[in-house]
Amino acid sequence: MADTLFVKLNDGHTMPQLGLGVWKASVEEARAASLAAINAGYRSIDTATIYGNEEGIGQAVRDSSVPREQLFITTKLWNDAHLEPRKALETSLRKLKLDAVDLYLIHWPAPRKGDYVKAWRGLIELRKAGLTRSIGVSNFHQVHLKRLIDETGVTPVLNQIELHPMLQQRELHAWGTQHSIQTESWSPLAQGGQGVFEQPVIRGLARKYGKTPAQIVIRWHLDQGLVVIPKSVTPARIVENAQVFDFRLEKDELAEIGLLDIGKRLGPDPEIFS
Ligand code: NAD
Repeated sequence: MADTLFVKLNDGHTMPQLGLGVWKASVEEARAASLAAINAGYRSIDTATIYGNEEGIGQAVRDSSVPREQLFITTKLWNDAHLEPRKALETSLRKLKLDAVDLYLIHWPAPRKGDYVKAWRGLIELRKAGLTRSIGVSNFHQVHLKRLIDETGVTPVLNQIELHPMLQQRELHAWGTQHSIQTESWSPLAQGGQGVFEQPVIRGLARKYGKTPAQIVIRWHLDQGLVVIPKSVTPARIVENAQVFDFRLEKDELAEIGLLDIGKRLGPDPEIFS
């Protein structure tokens, strides 16, 4: 992978713009995929408590020849632990066998439970304690983000949200940018299906640039300044998904992909999910 790009977060730290997602991978699959990714040049891996595979990520970090400080590990606080984030992160760190993660996220706001501001105060303490370098959120809408900022004065570095050509989240992305919150795309490939790869505009651009449809979609995320974490446990695809740093899409091509937005969610609605 040539020239991994980095983004600067609002707390001064940097983060690779491309990472590996490992949702639905077993411990062993996650270990093997993470190691394959690191060998292919990835420096960032996105896991979560609820994925049940943190042990595999930790093993890959230990097995790889890349120094720990060059790797960026994200994990997430599950919805049942908003009131005890310290215990949750300590459990994750034990599984990862790491002293600290690079980024800890509140996985969902679960607004019906009403505890996400308390969880955020907990994450602020965890950062102070050095158990995570940066803190952020996932699946937060403007209203949830605004509450965190207004009530604690601490702005998340990043919001990881469902974002792909069929659900482009332009308003939330723009709002985040205005408030120095980096947007990160989950399910960036629309989970590999849903017809995105067959869209004529994607196929046409794949032909033009000599790239695969997946690479065009990943480049579309990068060219909009999004952090992107495509998932694969297949070594050839892991390599393919990282071969995206030798071309750029033109403005009008980004706009054409923009027309594929139909507001289609593949995951739950954050307002009601708990
Ligand atoms: P994705 O959009 O990354 O799609 C992954 C699927 O696409 C793979 O399983 C495979 O079937 C296919 N694929 C991958 N590379 C391909 C290629 N080169 N060509 C053709 N098909 C290819 O889906 P995802 O796993 O849902 O999302 C990515 C990551 O985002 C997850 O693994 C996880 O880390 C994160 N995530 C976070 C949340 C959250 O609530 N914060 C929710 C879902 C996912």
